[in-house]
Amino acid sequence: MGLRETFLPWPVLRQAIASVRAGDRSGRGAAVRSRATDRLTPRTETADRVVGSVCPYCAVGCGQLVYVKDEQVVQIEGDPASPVSRGRLCPKGAATKQLVTNPLRETKVRYRRPYGKDWEDLDLGTAMEMIADRVIATRRETFVENDDRGRRLRRTMGIAMLGGATLDNEENYLIKKLGTALGAVQIENQARI
Ligand code: SF4
Repeated sequence: MGLRETFLPWPVLRQAIASVRAGDRSGRGAAVRSRATDRLTPRTETADRVVGSVCPYCAVGCGQLVYVKDEQVVQIEGDPASPVSRGRLCPKGAATKQLVTNPLRETKVRYRRPYGKDWEDLDLGTAMEMIADRVIATRRETFVENDDRGRRLRRTMGIAMLGGATLDNEENYLIKKLGTALGAVQIENQARI
């Protein structure tokens, strides 16, 4: 086997030669582009439209650009115009697309009965009724009007609320408003924990 066959297939050597030929001395441009790479087109270039949004995952609120094609989300990138994040997203924010498009995403109410071993589907109306019944019953049982010295408390320690980071601002606002109106004290969001 000659020198050419032995050493030329080495990626680093091929890259060095290509760098010289392409005038790409840092080896970060044309020299490292394969023909397959040249055939690729970013999803951001073929989108029908771009919609400004905010990352749903945490309280930082990084700006996002949502690329839409054929009414489907095809890519989500950081928004360079955001004064909060200036185009950057952390790994979680950069993976936001799967929140919308992942085939494993749950789209039905799932319920596991006490002592049950399996999950079952519930229709939304039934689930909402069950939650409302339990909230009302718990509040009724645990609401405290005054403390033992007669000072007004008007609270329940029997209900706590924990929001998830995929709740948006409006949902969090309504949950906080509802919780406070019920007399709940422990109202928290995963993004602050
Ligand atoms: S999860 Fe990451 S990208 Fe999203 S708002 Fe928080 S820091 Fe920004």
